[in-house]
Amino acid sequence: MNWQATVLTLFPEMFPGPLGLSLAGRALEKGLWTCRTEDLRQHGLGRHRAVDDTPFGGGAGMVIRPDVVDAAFAASQTPADVPRVYLTPRGRPLTQQDVRRYAAGSGVLLLCGRFEGVDERVLQAHDVEQVSIGDYILSGGETAALVLLDACVRLLPGVMGCEESGVEESFSEGLLEYPHYTRPAEWEGRAVPEILLSGNHAAIAAWRQKQAEEITRERRPDLWSAWLARKERNMAEAVGGAAQTDHFGV
Ligand code: SAH
Repeated sequence: MNWQATVLTLFPEMFPGPLGLSLAGRALEKGLWTCRTEDLRQHGLGRHRAVDDTPFGGGAGMVIRPDVVDAAFAASQTPADVPRVYLTPRGRPLTQQDVRRYAAGSGVLLLCGRFEGVDERVLQAHDVEQVSIGDYILSGGETAALVLLDACVRLLPGVMGCEESGVEESFSEGLLEYPHYTRPAEWEGRAVPEILLSGNHAAIAAWRQKQAEEITRERRPDLWSAWLARKERNMAEAVGGAAQTDHFGV
C-alpha cells in the first residue's frame, strides 16, 4: 500500500503543485505516494456554497464553518487511524520527529485554513492535531501543507536515491548539519577547509562534528541546550550502566 495524502482545501488546484516535480514528483509517478484533495467548496451551503461566516464575539475577518469541514472530513473517507492535521500558526511547531512519525504511517489528512481560520469545535470533534510551520502568518494552509508533505515524502522508502542522505542531516542527531563543499577546491580565492582533502576519515568526522556543534550553539541556542542535556543524561546512564555491570560482575 502506498502512502496517502488527503488535503481538505478551498484550492485543490494547488496540489500536488511543486510536489509534482523532482524527487516527490518522480515518487508520485512511481506510485510511492498519492495526493488526493477534497474541495471544501463542494460542501458549502446554499446557492453560493458559503463555507465561512462572521466570528462570534465580533472582530475582523471570516471563520470557516464547522459543519462544512465536518462534511468534507466525512466525504474524504479517510481511515480513523490516519493522523488528522490542521495547519495553523496556533499549532505546536512541526519538527522532524513529527515528520518521521507521519512518514512511518499510512498517510495524513491535512486541513488547510483560509481567512481567520476554522471553527474550534470541529477540530475537537475530530481529534485534529494543530501544527504550525513557523512563527509567521501565511495567507492559507496550502503552502504549509505542501511543506509538511515535502518533508514526509522524501522519507518514504524508495524515494531518496541514497538511503544514507536521510540519516545524516540536520536535526537527525539534534544538531544542525556541518557545512558542505564541492569542486573546485579553490574558488575565487576561497579554499576548501584543508582537512576535507586529507583523506583522513576519522579526522574529517571529528571536524564535521565540531562544526555541527559550533553552528548549533551559535544559531540555535534552543537545540543546543536540548542536545547538551541529552548528552549529559546519556553519559550519566552510561556511567550508571557501567557501575551496574561492575556490581553484578563482582
Ligand atoms: N488568524 C489566524 C491566522 C489565519 S491565516 C491567527 O492569527 O492565528 C489563514 C490560514 O493560513 C490559517 O487558517 C492556516 O491554515 C494557515 N496558516 C497561516 N500561517 C500558518 C503557519 N505559520 N503554519 C501553518 N499554517 C498557517
